[in-house]
Amino acid sequence: TRSTRPQRLLKAVQKKAIKGDPQSVISTIDYFCRHSEWAMNVGDEKGAILDSVVCEVSPSTALELGTYCGYSAVRIARLLPPGTKLITLEFNPDYAAVARQIIEYSGLQDKICLVEGASGDLIPKMQELFGIKTLDFVFLDHWKDRYLPDIKLLEECQLLRKGSILLADNVICPGTPDYLEYVRNSPRYESKYFKSHLEYTKVEDGLEKSVFLG
Ligand code: SAM
Ligand code: MG
Repeated sequence: TRSTRPQRLLKAVQKKAIKGDPQSVISTIDYFCRHSEWAMNVGDEKGAILDSVVCEVSPSTALELGTYCGYSAVRIARLLPPGTKLITLEFNPDYAAVARQIIEYSGLQDKICLVEGASGDLIPKMQELFGIKTLDFVFLDHWKDRYLPDIKLLEECQLLRKGSILLADNVICPGTPDYLEYVRNSPRYESKYFKSHLEYTKVEDGLEKSVFLG
C-alpha cells in the first residue's frame, strides 16, 4: 500500500536531518513541505512568532493541542527552560506514531510527553495524569471547531491562572470565528492578533495570543 504524507515526511527527516539536532529537523520538514508536499505544520513563518512567544513566556507548564507529526512540539520544546516538559495531545494513532519518531530523532524525547487521545477527554485529567495545577502556556492547533469548547473546558477545570498565555494558530485560515469572537470580547482575556501567512503559502493567516486575566 501507498505511504501516507506523515510517513513520507518522516522519511525525509531520517534521510536529511542531523540526528539530535532539533533545528535541522525543523528546517528539513520546512524544506520538504515547501518543495515536495504541503503539510499542516505551523511552518517557519508563523513558527518564528511561536518561538518568540514561547521565549517570552518561558513556561514551567506547557500544553499543545494537536501534535500531527511533531513539528511544532519540537519547535516549542527546544526553547523550554530546563526541567519543563511539553505535553502534546494527538488523537490520530498514525500521526502519533510518526510524531514519536520525529521527536526521538530530534533528541527531545525527554522534554515532550505525547499523549494519545482526544483533548475533550484528556484536559479534565491533566491534574491526575501529570499533577498539573495550572498551565503557563497553551498552543491551540487541533481541529478548529474545538478551540472554543476546549478553552471553556480549560477554564472549567481551573487549569488557567491569571497570566496564562493561549496562542491559537490558523485563526484566519481555515479560521476559528467563534473562538476569536470569544477571546476578543470576553473581559476575562486580553487578546492580540499576529498577522502572518498560512504555512508554506502567501495566503493570510495568523496567530491570536490571549492572556487569561482571571
Ligand atoms: N501543531 C502541529 C504542528 O504545527 O506541527 C499541527 C497540528 S494539525 C494542524 C492538527 C492535529 O490535531 C491533527 O493531527 C489532528 O489529528 C489533531 N486533532 C484534531 N482534533 C483533536 C482533538 N480534539 N484531540 C486531539 N487531537 C486532535
Ligand atoms: Mg496550524
